[in-house]
Amino acid sequence: MDEKKAMLLRGWRAGAAIDERVLRAFERVKREQFIMAQHSQYAYADAPLPLPAGQTISQPSTVMLMSQALDVREGMSVLEIGAGSGYQAAILCELVGKTGRVYSIETIPELVSLAQHNLRKAGYSRSVTVSFGDGSQGFAAHAPYERIIVTAGAPSVPKPLLEQLKDGGIMVIPVDDGTGSQTMWRISRRGGKYEQQAIGEFVFVPLTGKYGKNP
Ligand code: SAH
Repeated sequence: MDEKKAMLLRGWRAGAAIDERVLRAFERVKREQFIMAQHSQYAYADAPLPLPAGQTISQPSTVMLMSQALDVREGMSVLEIGAGSGYQAAILCELVGKTGRVYSIETIPELVSLAQHNLRKAGYSRSVTVSFGDGSQGFAAHAPYERIIVTAGAPSVPKPLLEQLKDGGIMVIPVDDGTGSQTMWRISRRGGKYEQQAIGEFVFVPLTGKYGKNP
């Protein structure tokens, strides 16, 4: 294995905050297949990297924290908003296994194609579909979802996403907190009630669309 990749894994294992299942997913997915060729030497630096169309792929430790907080189990149905490179979707595919399903929505056509291409090349096309659309409105076609992950910074939690979260489900979403960065929330649904817990401060590209920043 790449020495930098092994180093990241050693650090997380020492920290003991990330489950072994999530670490194994990271081990299996090749981040180098999801980034732009000119950045390949940084595949396992713990840093965000530029994607086409001014977007970014999150740094590995952010992907790990979000995947950990999402508590994805085999067989689950997961919705991702913001496919980008397809990397986070690939991690989700590993976590839901052969019996689960990942739906990822992306609003920039160029990135829909990129994510589809990357996921196909990496061998995940049986578990995931990437669709073009405004994910701030969710994806009604396959709702409700046991898990929802938003990988762009939202001005507030979009109502359609709360509605499309299954009872007992979990959503992880970065929401603007007025400081120029976002607070990551883990939202659990119990019937009509939603409990939320803050899990840290992050910086994401903005969520656009009807319930995003520029309706
Ligand atoms: N999860 C991605 C990184 C996402 S960057 C990865 O692993 O590579 C955030 C992405 O959200 C960008 O690609 C951006 O185009 C997309 N996005 C922003 N607003 C959106 C919306 N309303 N619906 C769907 N995608 C959106």
